[in-house]
Amino acid sequence: MRILVVGAGILGASVAYHLSLEKGVDVEVVDEEHQGKATLAGAGIVCPWATKVEEPAFYRFYAAGGAYYRKLVANLAENGETDFGYRQVGALVLAENETELAQVEKRVLTRVASVPEAGKVSRLSGKDAQALFPPLRDDFLALHIEGGARVEARAIAAAMMRVAVKNGAKARKGHVELALANGKPAATLNGEKLEADLVVVAAGAWANDILSSLGVSIAVAPQKGQIIHLRVPQETQDWPVLLPQASHYMLAFDDNRVVVGATRETGSGFDYRVTAGGQAEVLNFGLDLAPGLANATLIETRVGFRPATEGVKPLLGRIPGMEGMLIGNGLGAGGLTMGPLAGRLLAQTALGEPTDLDLADYPVLV
Ligand SMILES: Cc1cc2nc3c(=O)[nH]c(=O)nc-3n(C[C@H](O)[C@H](O)[C@H](O)COP(=O)(O)OP(=O)(O)OC[C@H]3O[C@@H](n4cnc5c(N)ncnc54)[C@H](O)[C@@H]3O)c2cc1C
Repeated sequence: MRILVVGAGILGASVAYHLSLEKGVDVEVVDEEHQGKATLAGAGIVCPWATKVEEPAFYRFYAAGGAYYRKLVANLAENGETDFGYRQVGALVLAENETELAQVEKRVLTRVASVPEAGKVSRLSGKDAQALFPPLRDDFLALHIEGGARVEARAIAAAMMRVAVKNGAKARKGHVELALANGKPAATLNGEKLEADLVVVAAGAWANDILSSLGVSIAVAPQKGQIIHLRVPQETQDWPVLLPQASHYMLAFDDNRVVVGATRETGSGFDYRVTAGGQAEVLNFGLDLAPGLANATLIETRVGFRPATEGVKPLLGRIPGMEGMLIGNGLGAGGLTMGPLAGRLLAQTALGEPTDLDLADYPVLV
């Protein structure tokens, strides 16, 4: 069976990775790498248990995606890939007062009761929280989730692609176009026909550009995120993820790097500029949360377009009545958490296997 994967963000990379572990599948991946590819900008937080989004189908996917990471990391290690910044550093959900903390605690404890991947959950004082993340203010109350993790998004996507290629997948760069031929999508790259029995469209925020020639439109739009990377003199590899009650957050990586995110610019279109307002929003939040970062070096601002849906939920599967194509999209602000599992689900669907989650809850057309 020949399968063409369009897009090699975390989702397309995961589709290719999971397909390449199977025998008898020829996989080809083509990625255009637009400016603003979400996977290149993503922060890398993997801690679904603290989300405020309650919608059951969304939460089921998000939590399953978080839990799947352990398997994925072990499986990548078996395939020789260990260097992608994944670490269970823990997460601190921060609250301003006792009432807020009690709400957070209730939400998280209900969810993690039977989830070993979440680890132990315990309250910490402001001083104890600061001891784990020294630049942090010391007047927050915190709930510590031991299993909270972070990952270098671009590195894990690249690791999955390397394994796929090692297992025989073909990886190319460029812009794929689709056209209808005998009721099925036919793909071309620079005028060259790409032979495939099945096309998996994992084109992120750009999906409607490629789908429009088929007369298909999905409810996904780019949501711009500006995210700032800082360098600090301290060793940062063990610092936990910080999750305050706002939608902003902070985390750290092994190379003295702290990441402060992010704007959520709904209706942004594909405007790839770093803006004064975006910088100010993220830095003001960051320095209010962690004043100890005031003297950090600002090393980079990344811009990415989240493939966002109004209903927040992922969209996964076939378009009714159209053979030969699967679509994966709508991973929004949680795509680094859900992307690896979403790729596995699409691979299972492509191969006609039962899926770990029922995709009927995540229809492509809503
Ligand atoms: C600032 C920011 C912070 C984030 N932080 C987190 C986080 O901490 N935790 C979390 O879980 N999630 C996070 N996310 C969300 C996550 O990054 C995204 O949901 C995820 O990366 C989406 O992956 P994707 O593969 O669907 O899309 P993308 O990574 O955008 O990949 C799609 C690819 O398809 C390619 N493509 C499009 N059209 C074509 C075509 N016609 N031909 C060939 N290729 C094509 C594109 O160029 C692109 O390379 C964050 C996102 C942003 C922007």
